[in-house]
Order: sequence, then C-alpha cells, then structure tokens
Amino acid sequence: MEQLSARINSLSPSATIAMNQKGRELKDKGVDVINLSVGEPDFMTPEHIKEAAKKAIDGPWHHYAPVAGYPDLLKAIVEKFKRENNLDYKPSNIMVSVGAKHSLANVMLCLIDKGEEVIVPAPYWVSYVEQVKIAEGVNVVLDTTVEDEFKISPQQLEDAITPKTKALLLCSPSNPTGSVYTREELAALAAVIAKHPGIYVIADEIYEHINFVGGHESIAQFEEIKDRCVIINGVSKGYAMTGWRIGYMAGPEWLIKACGKLQGQMTSGACSIAMRASLEALTGDQSCVKEMRDAFLRRRDLILGHVNSIEGVKCATPGGAFYVFPDLSTYIGKSVDGRKIETDMDLCIYLLEVGHIATVPGSAFGADGCVRISYANSDENLEKAMQRLKKALAALS
Ligand code: PMP
Ligand code: GLU
Repeated sequence: MEQLSARINSLSPSATIAMNQKGRELKDKGVDVINLSVGEPDFMTPEHIKEAAKKAIDGPWHHYAPVAGYPDLLKAIVEKFKRENNLDYKPSNIMVSVGAKHSLANVMLCLIDKGEEVIVPAPYWVSYVEQVKIAEGVNVVLDTTVEDEFKISPQQLEDAITPKTKALLLCSPSNPTGSVYTREELAALAAVIAKHPGIYVIADEIYEHINFVGGHESIAQFEEIKDRCVIINGVSKGYAMTGWRIGYMAGPEWLIKACGKLQGQMTSGACSIAMRASLEALTGDQSCVKEMRDAFLRRRDLILGHVNSIEGVKCATPGGAFYVFPDLSTYIGKSVDGRKIETDMDLCIYLLEVGHIATVPGSAFGADGCVRISYANSDENLEKAMQRLKKALAALS
C-alpha cells in the first residue's frame, strides 16, 4: 500500500519537465520531434568554462566544498553584483546552491511559515507555486493580461497585501512571458513594499543576461527595501550551463545563514567541479554572453514573425528570456479527425503527436489558453517548427 505524505500528494509535477520528457520519449521512438518545451539554451557551454572544469578535475577539487560555496566564488559573485548591477554585497550575503531552483527552495523554506501568503504574479514559472506549497505557504496569484505586457501594477500589489503577506515573487525578465519590468515600474512596486515592513521580495533574475531592451534592472537597487530583497540568479541561462546545476542568491545575512543551515542538512555544498567552472564563467571572458543574447534576439524576431501571422493569435513582444507566450485560446474547442481540443493541454498534446513539436500549456503557468514556446533552438529548427505549428493549427476547425 502506498503511504505517501500529504505534502507530496498535494504537489503537481513540473509541467516543463513533463513536456520535455514526452518530447524525448517520442523522439526515442524515431519521430522527428522539435523540442520547444523545456527552457534551456541549445548552445554548448563555452570552451573556456569547460577548460576550467577539466583543470579542476585534475586539480585538488575532489572533496566536500564549503556549504555556502568556495570563498573565491563568493567573492566573484560579490564582484559580479557590483560590476553588473551596482549592488554592494559582502560574501556573507551570498550562498551558492544546486541551481537557482534550489536557491529558491532554500529561501521559501527559510522564509515562509505555514499559512503565510506569497504574492505570485501570473503567468508564473511552474515551480514557484509548488515550492510555496511545500513550505505550507498560501499562493496569492495576481492575474495580468497581454495588454499590460503581463506585468502587475502597484495598485494590484497594494490591494493584494494582507497582514499575512510575507513575500512578493518577481521574475524579470519573465519565464514564461519574456516581460521585462522597467526601472520606473520597479520603483513603483518598491514604493509599495517600502510601506509594509514585514514583506520581502524574492527577485528571480536568472534571465538577467537575456535582455533585449537595455541593461538589467534589479528591484534590490532601491535602498529603502534592499535589505528585504533576495536576488536569485545563476549560471544556467546566461552561460548555457543548465546541466552543471549552479545557482546563487544574495540577501540579508540572517537569511543566508539560515539557508546555509538548511542546505547543510539537505545537500551540503554544490558540486566542486561545477563551482570551479562557474568561477570561470563569472570572471572570464564575457563575450559569449552577448553572442548568445544576440542569437536569441534574432530567433525571437524570427519566431514572432511567424506567430503573429497566424490567424486569431495574440502575442506580446517579449523583452527578454527565450520564450514567446501566445494566446491560442481561439483554437480551443476546435476539432480535427474526430479529435476535440478541449484544453490547452489537449492542444499541446495534439501539437506534439501530430505536429511533432513539443511546447508547454499555459495552464501550467496559471494562464489557460496560452502556450509557451521556447525559441532556444537553432534557426533552422525554429523555421521548421513554425511551419508545423501553422499547418497543425490550420487543420483545426
Ligand atoms: N527560475 C526561472 C524563472 C527559470 O526559468 C529557471 C529554469 N529552470 C530557474 C529559476 C531554475 O534555474 P536552474 O537551472 O539554475 O535551477
Ligand atoms: N526553467 C526551465 C523551464 O521553464 C527549465 C525546466 C525547469 O527547471 O522547470 O522550462
């Protein structure tokens, strides 16, 4: 008899990972699937970073690392925040974890108590709401629209705050919409947070380097709330290092210390070799970051051109990340060959089985009727995928 905890039974599996898996399984059966589901750069990790890892394997990096990360890596992260974000931190404000997802989980578990509310703007990345559930917090989801570029307003934030509010989760550039908050928009949200001293901001900035609208703006730049901000970042996206599993956070010392205690009991320090490689990523030649960003911008325009030419589709122009998030709700309720598309999940399964393209349904991100398309794929594959998408959608009536 299965005797799983109520905690795990209340948890939904990650839809991004599930759709990626479905795409892989079909591919393993010999079907030519183009995978636009999981969000990860298609590029290989840059040479100089791989070289640093090879050197580390031959060097003295074979033992348990300090739980918070190697001191020189913490220093490199402090310097990164100064150089790129003009933010002052000390190494004691930084902790390295097994990917940004792990950094987020640490923060949730150390900050959120049972019944406390976390404000999560939708569309949201799938893992936020599930991690809040693991922490026994309560998700307070704020809906946004394509017309608002999927961004919350200061009034919406103010109206959502209650005596139980503990944190706001903010993701910019956003997964899944690609929206980027401007400095002025962040200043207005920071002004609301400043009025409520018990509220923290968990700022997920993992897509910082994939920004097409100018320099990255962090909400932690506003002095009046800086000591209540926790920045989540990592090397996965900007340096094409998703498999290496290195993320980091910056925040108040007391929270970092608590996260260190938790991580010390749950995983210990992150992988030694991956940390040495991440040190090279953060301190070495940065031209790879710009080259990959430029390729993503070209692909964004390629894919937007196609998506916007499809009848009945509404799609915002993303300012960053590598996703487009079109509203395909006009196709829901349609049929083909006796197959009725009742939900966005049905649509994604149809696109996978018939169109041979893997995407992720918007409902997984709190936005029914939309579909997330990752354009972190070759230009050639994207062209092919867009022809398949158009053909599959046109067949529905
Ligand atoms: N936050 C967002 C918004 C993401 O899209 C991802 C991608 N997985 C993560 C965090 C986690 O990144 P990592 O691979 O470093 O765990
Ligand atoms: N962040 C990526 C995505 O949204 C990777 C998968 C995951 O970690 O959920 O697809």
